[in-house]
Amino acid sequence: MTGELLQALRQQIREFGPVDIATFMNIVLAHPQYGYYMRQDPFGVKGDFTTAPEISQMFGEMIGVWAADTWKKMGEPDAFILAECGPGRGTLMADALRATTRVDGFHDAVCVHLIETSPVLRSQQEKTLHAYEVCWHDHVNLLPDDKPVIIVANEFFDALPVHQLVHDAGGWKEKVIGLDDNGNPVFGLADTIVSEMMPVMNEGAEMLEVSPVRMEYFLEIGRTVKKQGGAALFIDYGHTHLASGDTLQAVYKHEYCDVLENIGQADITAHVDFASLQKGAQKAGLHDHGPVTQGEFLKALGIELRAQMLARVANEMQREDIVHSLSRIIDDDQMGNLFKVMAVTDADSKLVLAGF
Ligand code: SAH
Repeated sequence: MTGELLQALRQQIREFGPVDIATFMNIVLAHPQYGYYMRQDPFGVKGDFTTAPEISQMFGEMIGVWAADTWKKMGEPDAFILAECGPGRGTLMADALRATTRVDGFHDAVCVHLIETSPVLRSQQEKTLHAYEVCWHDHVNLLPDDKPVIIVANEFFDALPVHQLVHDAGGWKEKVIGLDDNGNPVFGLADTIVSEMMPVMNEGAEMLEVSPVRMEYFLEIGRTVKKQGGAALFIDYGHTHLASGDTLQAVYKHEYCDVLENIGQADITAHVDFASLQKGAQKAGLHDHGPVTQGEFLKALGIELRAQMLARVANEMQREDIVHSLSRIIDDDQMGNLFKVMAVTDADSKLVLAGF
């Protein structure tokens, strides 16, 4: 546990009482000085976890293929925004741009925008994307509003804070984190929960996660798509049915650990409830596509053919790596099934998106 972050958490709890899980995630991940993403580059072998674009260049390439196809179906606008929320090291965007170099007119029209709050990762993205003109923003609502958009987000929503609600004899209560006698963080339950978070319950559920922040972010992206035209693509690990259960998890040096251990040094995420996002999209006048599994999506875009093409010009070791990394991102027992892909377009647009 980083001392400073624990101190910040303790101080907050001592001053204002136990914090809900969303506040906890917010402090741990996004504290301006000591937050997990604010201090370090967490990816890769030396880091805590790895993501599909970091596993294989083919992932970002397929997103590039998808974006170019979408741009064509939008009527090849002369100028459009290609934005990514939470771009990590910028690898997905770099692979997507490289894969679209030969798409006639695409690079003349593209304006690359990245939504990133971490200064450490922004400077990493700057390095990865040094060959391109890039604009950075703190929030998706700061994108220019004068062009159509193609927005992508991979493993972004899982980093946005969730509340956890627990059903016990006394009704629904919110899970919180307080301090024990030694000043160490411990889980507890609070009596009051904000009524707007009360889920429409399926009988028998004992625990639920809700994320008003994630929903609002999603709807903001949806409003941008509706107003400016285009599409948004979301890839994340999550379920397609109403969430019931605790999906909060901490990963430290590629191993799962207790959420209250290694605070500030472990990545903390929660699965994305795609069913809620779908409902939100429909209410907001958006057309929702999917969700489909990551494996289905990438195969529909031709990732296996791409792997064969790469293998043809590869040496033995590279060929093994191509086969291995392909299997990691598309196989059902790896990321292929757990990760879901969903997109939104304006309900009035007739865009038929590739991959769904
Ligand atoms: N998409 C990348 C990284 C995923 S990790 C990949 O697939 O490799 C989550 C990313 O979201 C990080 O870049 C993190 O700094 C960023 N992030 C987290 N919360 C954010 C917020 N509220 N606004 C913008 N970026 C955020």
